[in-house]
Amino acid sequence: MSEDYGDGYDQARYTDGDRYVPLLSEKNNREVDIETPLPDDLTRDSLELPDLSEPELARHYSRLSQMNYGIESGPFPLGSCTMKYNPSFTEDIAAAPAGAVHPDRDGETVQGTLDLYAQLQEYLADIGGMDAVTLQPPAGAAGEFTGVLVAQAYHEHNGDERSEIVIPDSAHGTNFASAAMAGFDVVELPSGEDGRVDLDALAAALSDETALLMLTNPNTLGLFERDIVEVAEMVHDVGGLLYYDGANLNALLGRARPGDMGFDIMHYNVHKTFATPHGGGGPGAGPVGVSEDLEQFLPTPQVRATDEGYERYEPENSVGKVHGFHGNWLVLAKTAAYIARLGDEGLVDASAKAVLNANYLAEQLDYEVPFGPFHHEFVASADDQDAADVAKRMLDYGVHPPTTKWPEIVDEALMTEPTEGENKRTLDQLATAFNAVAGEDDATLESAPERTAARRIDQVSAARDPQLSWQALDEE
Ligand SMILES: *Cc1c(COP(=O)(O)O)cnc(C)c1O
Repeated sequence: MSEDYGDGYDQARYTDGDRYVPLLSEKNNREVDIETPLPDDLTRDSLELPDLSEPELARHYSRLSQMNYGIESGPFPLGSCTMKYNPSFTEDIAAAPAGAVHPDRDGETVQGTLDLYAQLQEYLADIGGMDAVTLQPPAGAAGEFTGVLVAQAYHEHNGDERSEIVIPDSAHGTNFASAAMAGFDVVELPSGEDGRVDLDALAAALSDETALLMLTNPNTLGLFERDIVEVAEMVHDVGGLLYYDGANLNALLGRARPGDMGFDIMHYNVHKTFATPHGGGGPGAGPVGVSEDLEQFLPTPQVRATDEGYERYEPENSVGKVHGFHGNWLVLAKTAAYIARLGDEGLVDASAKAVLNANYLAEQLDYEVPFGPFHHEFVASADDQDAADVAKRMLDYGVHPPTTKWPEIVDEALMTEPTEGENKRTLDQLATAFNAVAGEDDATLESAPERTAARRIDQVSAARDPQLSWQALDEE
């Protein structure tokens, strides 16, 4: 695979195998002398560095960007992940020099930052119907883990140690992982015939060992849990708490609040709902909201207003730290900017469009959608096609595929979330791609994708045995 295609972008675009783009250091190097005030035993005297012209550099990076697919290349209907377009004004806010504040600075000298922090806590509390919010967790999954720790601390504080967390079978894998990481036993709740929580199954799963029920609402099928008030009562009756997985908050923004439904703890996936980049491992943010009784267990530090200005404080029975300082602050600054720009009306409008777009797109598809009525996302069934092959083939039509094979309640699931950011033209383009693939035979699907930079990659090895440096690859 070491053939150098040079700058012949088009020539290399549709080859049989993967397209190989050499690293800058493989193109042309020059030995550079190093002069430094550091001690000799800590430095070398020379270094090989790429010696390239500016056009070569510009072409290299723009070629890499063309090999990638992102929301700025086309629609990205990855259900549950909410890959929506994030307006770039939020980047300007995060890049403002005033934001570059060292987190160790004395609170008195960074009142503006703490003010924005407190405001964002308030925005999120208001949107979720929660009483207090921590911005510290660095991702949604980290928010779940934090929420589970808070629930654990609450029960222990009451002298009531509990060992179980109940989670529906349609839940995201991170729910199970967060519960297990905190040392709980997971009780899996089978979905009812209609794809929602089955109250009889719930009654059977609950006991005085139940610490928490973790629920996504609308759930991963895009279905609103209509019995949520009764579900909350049942959990509270056995002394348990209710956790809201906020990944699907787009469907409810400005219309309904988890706190009002009876949830005690929730996380916000700010990269799914409030215009921050998906972390891909970080840096992201997954703030957690809690009801009044649970504020005392939140991570430290928190920020609050006093007569003399804002101060940091440690909640009375804090679970400690789940990340450094105030979390990934610049990511959170984007969240605050997005919410402030949209305002109440804009948020309500976003959820309306998210739901309308999902319903319009589903209506156009030749694939069947077994469960409904749904909100901001739907799960179609590829039925006798393999959903993973469908996904690969959609890449050839120039659009990103939906999430596949999950939730397992739907055969060959195509979990689709167009988001509020797309207009009718784009939705029609997506539908055309879906329907073209729906009419194709297995042989065509199995050999896809043909028109991408890389063909089929070994996904299991990529996840289990990642080669994170080109040197490691070289050594193989
Ligand atoms: C994305 C997602 C999560 C995890 O959030 P991250 O921010 O990616 O860690 C949890 N639950 C559901 C339903 C999700 O879609």
